[in-house]
Amino acid sequence: MKALAVFPASREVKIVDRPEPDCAGPTEVKLRILEAGICGTDREIADFRYGAPPADSPYQIIGHEALGEVVEVGSSVTGLVPGDLAVLMVRRPCPHDGCGPCRNGRPDFCITGDFTERGIKGAHGYMTEFVVDDERYLVKVPKELREVGVLLEPLTVAEKAAEQVRVLVQRLPGNLKDDPSNLNAVVIGAGPIGLLGAMKLVDGGFNTWVYYRGQADSPNGRIVSAIGARFLSSTEHPPADLAKIVGNISLIYEATGVATISFDVLSVLGVNGVFIFTGVPGVRAPIEIDAERIMRNLVLNNQVICGTVNAGRDSFEEGVRDLESFMQRFPAAVRALITARMTLDDARDAVLAKGGIKSVITVA
Ligand SMILES: [Zn+2]
Ligand SMILES: [Zn+2]
Repeated sequence: MKALAVFPASREVKIVDRPEPDCAGPTEVKLRILEAGICGTDREIADFRYGAPPADSPYQIIGHEALGEVVEVGSSVTGLVPGDLAVLMVRRPCPHDGCGPCRNGRPDFCITGDFTERGIKGAHGYMTEFVVDDERYLVKVPKELREVGVLLEPLTVAEKAAEQVRVLVQRLPGNLKDDPSNLNAVVIGAGPIGLLGAMKLVDGGFNTWVYYRGQADSPNGRIVSAIGARFLSSTEHPPADLAKIVGNISLIYEATGVATISFDVLSVLGVNGVFIFTGVPGVRAPIEIDAERIMRNLVLNNQVICGTVNAGRDSFEEGVRDLESFMQRFPAAVRALITARMTLDDARDAVLAKGGIKSVITVA
């Protein structure tokens, strides 16, 4: 079978031929990959700036956003049958007994750093024809979501963020934690992570604003208005204007990976506000930020800054329910997130190319 491989030593990205995997244990499931999404992480791995192949392999099969169809199940598998659709989770636990999060099914909070991530770190990914994995790492997706199920993994970034926010608002007294309809949220960035986050916020009842550098009549801007969020151009409005336009900002969801704009917007976070970071910037020279103002606001306004990476099983399952809800409310906007579909033979060019919102490799 074919797979897209990145060779860090020889700096090559090419299709390789691999043996088709089979279920080896009773809890394993074999999937035929239907679609695999491409994101910035794949582009960084293909640019040899990120990721690590499995210890015994000269190359890394990339791809961590995949929708597959079950073709074979081990004898002890209970939750999936052939023909079902499923999405694969990404992170796998570290081997250390002392890692509480990994031993309790939450490797997204691993404390040792020795976790693996399929398609990213120490394990092959999903940009290939067949994948075998343990049932516990697969999440069943209803057949009605066939067209957009490949968006589930990127949506889990927002789902885990929402899980964190639910914990963080518990510190607030009384009605402050109950009613999102009088709460304003700002999403920074309008790529797939930002737009899926905006959908989650709109669906959760927040007054949602999306702040980014593009135009209102761009494909991204049209999705913002189609879902009932409001667009704010960062080229027209400096961050200092945001509080005047939006009012008290209760929640900021960062989805750019750019530190300058993120810290500028942090300085206008409102009273009792929460700021969620999801982007991973490259490590470059230090930048200037208004640290005294930010620190002053953090203290005087009871603010919280929270970073979040990866996601647990609950976030994938909540994501399935949310995708169903999004497809009820604004199906055209969800479909419009996928701006290109290419074959596995063209996957190399697709990963190395830029542009569009979400490109997807159609495998089967
Ligand atoms: Zn991704
Ligand atoms: Zn661990």
